[in-house]
Amino acid sequence: MRWSQTFIPTLKETPADAEIPSHKLLLRAGLIRKLTGGLYTFLPLGLRALRKVEQIVREEMDRAGALEVLMPALQPPEIWQRSGRYQAAREVLFRLQDRAKREWLLGPTHEEVITTVVAGEISSYRQLPKNFYQIQTKFRDEIRPRFGLMRAKEFIMKDAYSFDATDEAAQISYRKMYDAYARIFQRCGLKTIPVEADAGVMGGKFSHEFMVPAETGESEVVYCEDCGYAANIEKATSAAPKSEIRNPKSEIEKFATPGVVTIEALAQPPYHIPADRQIKTLVYLLESKLILILLRGDHQLNEAKLAGVLGTTQFRAATAEEIYAELGAHPGSLGGVAATLKSGTLPIYADEALRGAVGMTTGANEDGFHLRNVSIERDLVVQQWADLRLAQAGEACSQCGRPLKVRRAIEVGHVFKLGTKYSEALGALFLDEEGKQQPAIMGCYGIGVTRTLQAIIEQCNDTDGIIWPVSVAPYAVCITPLTVTADSPVMILAEKICAELSSHGVEVILDDREERPGVKFKDSELIGFPIRIAIGEKSLAKGEVELKPRAGTLVAVKSDGAVARVLQLLHV
Ligand SMILES: [Zn+2]
Repeated sequence: MRWSQTFIPTLKETPADAEIPSHKLLLRAGLIRKLTGGLYTFLPLGLRALRKVEQIVREEMDRAGALEVLMPALQPPEIWQRSGRYQAAREVLFRLQDRAKREWLLGPTHEEVITTVVAGEISSYRQLPKNFYQIQTKFRDEIRPRFGLMRAKEFIMKDAYSFDATDEAAQISYRKMYDAYARIFQRCGLKTIPVEADAGVMGGKFSHEFMVPAETGESEVVYCEDCGYAANIEKATSAAPKSEIRNPKSEIEKFATPGVVTIEALAQPPYHIPADRQIKTLVYLLESKLILILLRGDHQLNEAKLAGVLGTTQFRAATAEEIYAELGAHPGSLGGVAATLKSGTLPIYADEALRGAVGMTTGANEDGFHLRNVSIERDLVVQQWADLRLAQAGEACSQCGRPLKVRRAIEVGHVFKLGTKYSEALGALFLDEEGKQQPAIMGCYGIGVTRTLQAIIEQCNDTDGIIWPVSVAPYAVCITPLTVTADSPVMILAEKICAELSSHGVEVILDDREERPGVKFKDSELIGFPIRIAIGEKSLAKGEVELKPRAGTLVAVKSDGAVARVLQLLHV
């Protein structure tokens, strides 16, 4: 391909609204252009790289025995109502009406569609296992699209759905996908960490996410360097700290704390009550009733864990008015001590780290007052103890006791073992060996293809631009003749090397623009072609050309050995 005949609008300046390196580089290297927030056009080079990621995904899915299909993006809401996901996912669904005012939606995923297909076609265990996948455009009503392709309204995903007759077989399907994912990201040149993940509203049994460590990532990973434990922050556990016994027999005492409404304020003079000696009281509304969530003062609530404990995501923080009506105090003076509750009890969910805690301080349910010497098990009626807190860096690993670390990451893939939620709801049933009807056991597996492309750039770049791994580079080699006069020895050699590399299946772009060498070099570094071959009159007089791997050092090679050297570098 000749540069002059394709379309590569590189930019010298960084567009103002691009916040992270990969987003800036996608725009500057002329790979994508923004239509409006969360919607992008892939330009020729960007599309070439995207197709390569897709092809790697396709090859590895095929190798793992998954079958490619293509489902409609437009879906009827009825199947979402049947699966029970319509309400839960309502906020992120793009919904639209046809001319008859009938409602439709644009799919963010396809569990309902594929399960409907399987329900109509599969009836015997002999037809299982099956795993169907597609590479397709998805839609998500993002409240705040940002970071380019990372969080967009429209994006390309590979989604796969496995159907098995037994739990053991479902486990094998899950493992196959997990292994395929590891190979896919490795072939894309990405370093990923698989982590345990929360199954969330997908209703899963267990799941893993594939994370790309990056300071700009929107996910957080809790990990242990000693034993290898790694989990998404929503799922991560830490060992519950031992409560220190202090004044176990002291009686509760009410004391005035005028104007004090935060844990931090109570930790300051004149009170000097450390956060870990305070009880944090949160009030939530569950099925129109108030519940209390208790944590140690220095801990944060993990709402994903609370959802797991409550068995639903249909809850929310109570408003100040709702709280005052029930507890007679405002946030900042709340507590769960039975004697201070109007009705004597409210359902209390307490974090494990508070178990056995004594000598604690909490709100008195009276504005401007707190209680000290509170013993959790003596003075409160806890309905359920559970792990509710967000794991923090420095806490002990629940597996080995060593300190945990936390780092940011980009989620590029997700594998779930779903169980029978969808197959039961949508009738994907089969007859087992004994002739008994059973729901198929499902798994679902997603890769954000457009997000993976950007994650590669986020991980592989330097101050000059992108450093494409060869496997996904838009072109593997850029040939840069320093003079482009037709029939000049420089141009003749450039065309010859281009033709020879092409005959070996190497994708080459020939920079035939009448630009200064400096401009051409800057552009090729910015775009990040893995190898650049510069041909100038001076070096050619010595029978040499200059070969520069994007991430390596420039070497002069004999012009008749250039092709062999490039093939060697590319492992062709
Ligand atoms: Zn550990």
